[in-house]
Amino acid sequence: MTECIVCESEIEQGVIGPEAGYGGESYAPAQTEHAGEIYYFCCSEHKESFESDPEQYVSS
Ligand SMILES: [Zn+2]
Repeated sequence: MTECIVCESEIEQGVIGPEAGYGGESYAPAQTEHAGEIYYFCCSEHKESFESDPEQYVSS
């Protein structure tokens, strides 16, 4: 299960299937890479929130 790291809501995957040209790979509305990790988001707004302050959301 994939969760939006900002709001912790479950991200519905597979929304866009192979017929849409994604090759059947898992799909999330938005994603980004930070410190070598891929993070997924429920929406582009939360992606922007994360990118503005990644350390707020990444616990390490
Ligand atoms: Zn979210």
